[in-house]
Amino acid sequence: MRALVLEEFNGPLVMKDVPVPIISPHEVLVRVRNVGVCGTDLKIRAGRMGLDALPLIMGHEVAGEVAEVGSEIEYLAPGDRVAVGFYVTCSRCQFCREGRDTLCPQVRQHGFSIDGGMAGYIKTPGVNLCKVPDHVPLEQACILSDAVSTSYHAVTKRARVGPGNTVALIGVGGVGLHALHCQVGWRLHHCRGHQRRTFSAGPKVGGRCCD
Ligand SMILES: [Zn+2]
Ligand SMILES: [Zn+2]
Repeated sequence: MRALVLEEFNGPLVMKDVPVPIISPHEVLVRVRNVGVCGTDLKIRAGRMGLDALPLIMGHEVAGEVAEVGSEIEYLAPGDRVAVGFYVTCSRCQFCREGRDTLCPQVRQHGFSIDGGMAGYIKTPGVNLCKVPDHVPLEQACILSDAVSTSYHAVTKRARVGPGNTVALIGVGGVGLHALHCQVGWRLHHCRGHQRRTFSAGPKVGGRCCD
């Protein structure tokens, strides 16, 4: 398969032919369809993430179709559309059992310390995959596991923003814009101009709908 490989920090991503990954019984092989490019990819390429596992296939915002399932996987089948969670953890420690798996002492990350999705295929444990409904385009689904879930976690779990709260959003890049969407979910309303339900960021941030 073809893959974009980071061979040296600050060097180019090199298009190479590499072997298709071989899966274990608990893993799934995903045919990559879409990969997001995250701001953190710039830091990884520049060697500013404290990683030393080169060569590396980058890409941690990945969506695609299941190509092959391991013998222990019962809930996925070839052809399923999936988004790939990029944290690979032990699934057994206290943090994993509490749903705080990013704190797992054995955590590894696709595109950071293990190969990511800028390639024809990626292999990952079956528990890392989330089925994507047919009406959600994979180019949108690929950012769910990072840019969207990061901001969703920040808004709902860390800041615990609720209806009626006034919030300041500092830094409206990729993650910040999704945080904005997470927060304005409460502003879902009926827009008279569009004759449909819509949501807006409200007049104070200039995202108001036509009414
Ligand atoms: Zn990222
Ligand atoms: Zn763990």
